[in-house]
Amino acid sequence: MENVNSSAEALSHSSGFGKRFCRKCLTRDLANETYFQNMYEYIENLDEDIKATDDLYQERLSLCRQCENLLDGMCRICGCFVEMRAAVKKNYCPAVHKKW
Ligand code: SF4
Repeated sequence: MENVNSSAEALSHSSGFGKRFCRKCLTRDLANETYFQNMYEYIENLDEDIKATDDLYQERLSLCRQCENLLDGMCRICGCFVEMRAAVKKNYCPAVHKKW
């Protein structure tokens, strides 16, 4: 799993008023705190039987990143953190026209 802090720093946007974060980012892009660490540990420790493969997970997150319903790491349709939702193999995109 990539380093959350370096990811957040790499994707944050600097301005004259300090760092701002894109509202279209995943939580991994937002988190420079330990708040989300529990979620990442939960995902990491999911049982392999229910966990999406890494390729599937990354593909899902890529689609979420391009989606107009992603807001601060959450899906505006279901209210889930998309990184959590996408990590479980049986889950699916809740949009009427499913993206994954
Ligand atoms: S609608 Fe689907 S693709 Fe869009 S953010 Fe929600 S889960 Fe991701």
